[in-house]
Amino acid sequence: MTVRTRFAPSPTGRLHVGNARAALFCYLFAKSQGGQFVLRMDDTDQARSTPEFAQAIHTDLAWLGLTHDETAKQSERFARYEEVFTQLKEQGLAYACYETPDELDRKRKRQLARGLPPVYDRAALELSAEEIAAFEAEGRTPHWRFKLSGNSVSWPDMVRGEQKIETASLSDPVIRRGDGTWLYTLPSVVDDLDMKITHVIRGEDHVTNTGAQVELIAALGGALPVFAHFSLMLAADGGALSKRLGSLSLQDLREQGLEPMSLNSLIARLGTADPVEPVRDMARLIAGFDMSRLGRAPARFDAEDVTRLNARILHEVPYADVAERLQAMGAPEGAEFWDSIKGNLTLLSDAADMVQLINGPITPIIEAEDADYVAQALACLPAAPLDEQSWSAWTSDLKASTGRKGRGLFMPLRQALTGQAHGPEMQHLLPLIGYDRATARLQGKDAA
Ligand code: GLU
Repeated sequence: MTVRTRFAPSPTGRLHVGNARAALFCYLFAKSQGGQFVLRMDDTDQARSTPEFAQAIHTDLAWLGLTHDETAKQSERFARYEEVFTQLKEQGLAYACYETPDELDRKRKRQLARGLPPVYDRAALELSAEEIAAFEAEGRTPHWRFKLSGNSVSWPDMVRGEQKIETASLSDPVIRRGDGTWLYTLPSVVDDLDMKITHVIRGEDHVTNTGAQVELIAALGGALPVFAHFSLMLAADGGALSKRLGSLSLQDLREQGLEPMSLNSLIARLGTADPVEPVRDMARLIAGFDMSRLGRAPARFDAEDVTRLNARILHEVPYADVAERLQAMGAPEGAEFWDSIKGNLTLLSDAADMVQLINGPITPIIEAEDADYVAQALACLPAAPLDEQSWSAWTSDLKASTGRKGRGLFMPLRQALTGQAHGPEMQHLLPLIGYDRATARLQGKDAA
């Protein structure tokens, strides 16, 4: 049996970090089992689904590196849902209901006022042929519900352990609206069965749906997939993530310049007892993924954790992996530049500042009280070409000749050569700045 998982977003908005977590778990689990990952667009809501959002989902997943083996679109499968719907009607498991939303709302309020659970009372099953004819004459078109058995349903959940739901405590789910459009339940089940999905991995907000879906699967004679419902993700302060989603869309994180593996590394481990580590290779993340490590407590997402991981990931990236992006910033070719600056980066885009620091223009800083010292430093700057030994040879000389040491020895040189008080090690920067630019900067000139 080939393990097959699916990520099933609705293309009605942008993906955010919560969706990324669902996608990542589906992907990691499938790949850790040598299986396949299916991307399914749940686009039954044709009024709200757009091709632009669908395209954005592809872009976001490609950015994360979650490549799919197959895609599907619910909007292309309406004929199939119709077929299954007809079958359910024939089985007596789909029934027509004529209540308006207002009427349903009043029913619910009456039940609640009497202390009863607001479960649909199945009044539609009692309608006589005359009553139905009267509703139809009024112009009402029915919506359709799936008839639950009223028994308890159970399944072993990979995250939550044995689950049990009393379907008697659920309303029969509406599977089709009065206008003929499909709600989530039926298409999702039909697709999972037709597409031979073996593991349904999704958030715990779907646990109740699963109770009804298990019965629908049984009604259709399908094999039950394995379910895994992971805990929800909260913001760092424990608040709902949805309130902050504006700033946590994958597009935003991408545009901030984060490395996708920083986000993957974090969300693969959030909600587990395992430490969060920077992982650069997807293969390693796959090898280390274990669904049984996921706990039931909510996972807390802090965007600053991604930034911190991003820095740690950059510090380990070999030059070859970033060469193209660095060259696009005008960085000097070769690993020396990368090796000397990477320790100072949080985002790769920060490298642009380092490029500028080397290529200029910069504004050298020479404090009045250091002017003589810097002039003396210029006079004994080692001959071209400057290399990795030049800095220590030069500053040893200056130490001996001026008696300066520590900050007083180094800082005026750094400030004159880079125009900044902080930055990568001067030993590495000096050869990159080169003799000509160093000479100009030590004379307080803009080196451009
Ligand atoms: N389209 C559904 C959602 O986004 C899919 C849920 C599922 O994985 O079954 O919530």
